[in-house]
Amino acid sequence: MKTNNSVIDLIDLSEIKMYINGKWQGAQNGEIFSVINPSTGEVVANIPRGGQIETKHAIESAEQAFKTWSKLTANERASYLLKVHDLMYEYKDQLAEIMSLEMGKPFTEAQGEVGFAASYLQWFAEEGRRVYGETIPPSAANKRLMVIKQPIGVVAAITPWNFPLAMMTRKVAPAMASGCTSIVKPAGQSPISALAFGKLLEMAGVPNGVVNIITGSSGPISDEIFANPTVKKISFTGSTEVGKMLVKKSAAQLKRLSLELGGHAPFIVFEDADIEAAASGALASKFRNTGQTCVCANRIYVQRSIIEKFSALFVEKAKALKVGNSIDPSVQVGPLVSYDGLAKVEEHVNDAVSKGARILCGGKRLEGDLSDGLFYEPTILGEVNSDMLITTDETFGPVAPIIAFDTEEEVIELANKTEYGLAAYFYTQNISRSVRVSEALQFGIIGMNDAVPTVAQAPFGGFKESGMGKEGGHQGISEYLEEKYISMGIEAK
Ligand code: NAP
Repeated sequence: MKTNNSVIDLIDLSEIKMYINGKWQGAQNGEIFSVINPSTGEVVANIPRGGQIETKHAIESAEQAFKTWSKLTANERASYLLKVHDLMYEYKDQLAEIMSLEMGKPFTEAQGEVGFAASYLQWFAEEGRRVYGETIPPSAANKRLMVIKQPIGVVAAITPWNFPLAMMTRKVAPAMASGCTSIVKPAGQSPISALAFGKLLEMAGVPNGVVNIITGSSGPISDEIFANPTVKKISFTGSTEVGKMLVKKSAAQLKRLSLELGGHAPFIVFEDADIEAAASGALASKFRNTGQTCVCANRIYVQRSIIEKFSALFVEKAKALKVGNSIDPSVQVGPLVSYDGLAKVEEHVNDAVSKGARILCGGKRLEGDLSDGLFYEPTILGEVNSDMLITTDETFGPVAPIIAFDTEEEVIELANKTEYGLAAYFYTQNISRSVRVSEALQFGIIGMNDAVPTVAQAPFGGFKESGMGKEGGHQGISEYLEEKYISMGIEAK
């Protein structure tokens, strides 16, 4: 186990390169962009700004690698995935440090993400061995009918900054396990984690071209990905706005597309809930990753009879959170990833307050020693109503709005009144209510007395404008497979 001594030897931060066809290279035109540490405002590293030329090269490399990678047995491919899994644990602290520096995830939480990301490698190594076909009873004695599953080919993964490793392995692992080869385009705010993962692929001896990692401008890179007929499928995680643009782009060649998009999760606390568990759950759901998760609680609905007790407990817990430079292992809440992210948080709080919300704790940027970073106090708002921006727009920050409700019917209607449908949570100790509510909520992921439901072995994906397709679970690998029906004529005797 490497120890965290603030010296990252997994990747040289002074000379970051892209990983294409097993080689490390800069952008052909020499262009770079900087990744800024949101805790300090300092430059972490300069990154090659790749574009159309590099993407084309990566696609050609993936196409070449597909010829042999797709022919390996599932067991052979699994052994590579498991080697990378083990290396992720070996380099856990270094990977966590990179993540923390480039996008501000608190170090201890980042260590957790490394394990979470690695779990997809293990899960899909195993799932690759279970890609079963089918035989179908024929309607004539001289026929035999079967269905086989084959890797779809070269795929592209476009990933967001908020889970720089896990959102990538959730795509790359099923692609590798099924026999596909890939091109990965990480977010501009967190490319170093992806490239460090490339180092592990290299160390594990994964053949050249099986996974290619390109950094740079999303426009030219995605233009080439969508225009190039070699790319058969794109898996995207990011905002609903960009997801919709990609749906339009995919039409020209009817490329297969899976989309994991934004969310606006309701978090409902009924009067029969374990209030202590609900307040701890709300804290974990809302303030994890500084509120920058697609599944985080965006609207906290609390039944009127317990709202004061719940709010007091929730505020007490939020005030105890340690905010600070994300590299400090004792910090629980880090900075926002960008100035735009911070401005959005301020806009949502100002809008709510101007319309009558009450600040129960927090409510401003952090000053003093932390003023160079993009810090905002963990904030809880009371007396929130549906006219406020915060109840419809994804805040993506450490702000928890509390909204009162009276009846089960009313809160179900309020919870479902959104174009999003990713995750929803509720707390109750009544069995009948738990069944009724989990069936009535129009969301792809339900946390019933559970604020952190995501695991590699369960399907993850949204309803409505939160996306299409599933990642994780046994469903996750089917996104990378084609089903082929074969009707075979035989000599019947
Ligand atoms: P984003 O702006 O949509 O970016 C996501 C990725 O798309 C990045 O790699 C980005 O590259 C790229 N991109 C941006 N514009 C593009 C374009 N025109 N064509 C092709 N690619 C483009 O989202 P984000 O701000 O990084 O992530 C936050 C969003 O992701 C939130 O809405 C969150 O809810 C959602 N999310 C969803 C899930 C899920 O599983 N459902 C998980 C995590 C996050 P550049 O950075 O280089 O522009």
